[in-house]
Amino acid sequence: MKPSEIRELLKYASMPDFISFGGGMPNPLSFPMNELREIVDEVIDVNGKYALQYGNTGGLPDLKTEISKMVLKTEKIKTEEKNIIVTSGSQQGLYGLGKIFLNHSDSLIVESPTYVGAISAFNANAGKMIPIEMDSEGIIVEKVEEKIKSLKANSNLPRFIYVIPNYQNPTGHTLSLERRKHLMELSETYQIPLVEDNPYGELCYSGEKIPSLKSMDKSGENVTYLGTFSKVMCPGLRIGYTIAPEAVVSKLNLLKQALDLSSSTFSQYVAYEYLKKGVIYKQVPKTVELYRKKRNIMLKALEDYFPKNSTWSKPDGGMFIWATLDKKINTSEMLKTSIENGVGYVSGLAFSPDGSHTSSMRLNFTFSEDEEIVRGISKLSNTIKNVSVR
Ligand code: PMP
Repeated sequence: MKPSEIRELLKYASMPDFISFGGGMPNPLSFPMNELREIVDEVIDVNGKYALQYGNTGGLPDLKTEISKMVLKTEKIKTEEKNIIVTSGSQQGLYGLGKIFLNHSDSLIVESPTYVGAISAFNANAGKMIPIEMDSEGIIVEKVEEKIKSLKANSNLPRFIYVIPNYQNPTGHTLSLERRKHLMELSETYQIPLVEDNPYGELCYSGEKIPSLKSMDKSGENVTYLGTFSKVMCPGLRIGYTIAPEAVVSKLNLLKQALDLSSSTFSQYVAYEYLKKGVIYKQVPKTVELYRKKRNIMLKALEDYFPKNSTWSKPDGGMFIWATLDKKINTSEMLKTSIENGVGYVSGLAFSPDGSHTSSMRLNFTFSEDEEIVRGISKLSNTIKNVSVR
């Protein structure tokens, strides 16, 4: 396991005037502080003796019922309590899936680039990641098929395929409907489970919402779905959930008994009330407004300032833009200079299981203030131009 570049960056984030496009942090303005204050009081007054007590390993049953109603409404996923396990953030679900699916050196297919936390979770379980190229419509499923065919010839099929179909971290790309259907066919034909990670699905600023893989999973046996409250409520309460075939849920349950006995009972009661009272459906549109504006500001600033030989994604949602510079520039090497000039980002290499994407960077647009986004992109452009002429 390598110490994450992101953690290193956090050290600099407290410098005065430092502008960080590095972390994947929601903006605190999106936290429903007043509503949560009321909910917290009520949880203590009404259910304090349960909410402050140990809870079921699998999660609060009432919360699981509310989660099943929510995913039906937002993602057209039909599920039941027995297929849901509440986790301490979806990160715990990712780690757990790595642990239960992978034996030492088993392979799995991932998008290239992919979420840095998934790389850590799969590395920690000694999984051998097979990265497959993406374009603006997500992972190139024809290449997944070619890979599966060649692995099958060696009787060495991957244990699962991990994808972030909506507003992917780090690229911001969304997997097209055609490719989703193709991926489902591959999963069914070759009996390879799909792991669908969807933390950003509700943060949609433009374009149409595309059906989730899990909603296309008629048997309920092919797709394991990871969800989280981190982007639609707040990450600090650490509540996520995994929707999976019963056999997977029961293995995750066993593992969770060893990891933390249960996710915070208190946080689960808060999340339950947040859903039951429908606060989530009032809060998310406000967050979407806030972030849509920030995305537009960053896209405009990139247009105005970035070197003309660079390219960047134009995400319909989520929290990130992926920029690719002249291939002579190594963004990991440039990072120190950029930090000294007061701007942080995460270099492409951090999201690459195979050492690629060295000229790319991930830019977060949700955390900084509007004016900082413009100033930060302008400063970053100067750093890039100076590095280019060296
Ligand atoms: N998956 C992806 C793609 C993410 O971007 C994140 C958080 N940035 C997570 C999972 C984990 O989120 P959490 O543990 O807060 O639910």
